Amino acid sequence: MSEEKLKIDKIKKGTVIDHIDSGYALTILNLTGLGESPNLMTIGVNVSSKKYQKKDIIKIEGEFLDPIQMQQISILSPNAKISLIDDYKVIEKKKVKLPNIIKSLILCQNKTCISNSEEPIETEFNVLEEKPLKIQCVYCNRIYKLDEIVFSSKEKIEKKIKQTIQL
Ligand SMILES: [Zn+2]
Repeated sequence: MSEEKLKIDKIKKGTVIDHIDSGYALTILNLTGLGESPNLMTIGVNVSSKKYQKKDIIKIEGEFLDPIQMQQISILSPNAKISLIDDYKVIEKKKVKLPNIIKSLILCQNKTCISNSEEPIETEFNVLEEKPLKIQCVYCNRIYKLDEIVFSSKEKIEKKIKQTIQL
């Protein structure tokens, strides 16, 4: 048995988020809302990895990610690999990909930005640099680094999308 298997138990059914940039597991849990799950979770921080020097890993029993959570993870940790587990076996592997344009997931912190007005406008950011992450609001041009990013709540994203459809 490898060293890693000894440290982190297998799960029966659920999701494994592997190759998270070291130090980001807790941020991912907080920002995606996964941290509020009542289900069994195993979190490895600074686990030794061959490919990258150190990595974080999250295993969650009985939870599967929605597309919004996948996109949030791609922003926080573009190297992450997601495996869906059933009956202790990997049934599907997904690799997240940071898009060139990030729509509606992130809030612009500029109060006077049009994306913060009552207008039904989805926020939109251009990815200027992937690592370290640097994004720019297309409306007010303000630039954000990873630690300055504020994610929209799920309810807010859904509301904005609904408003846009009603137009
Ligand atoms: Zn803006």
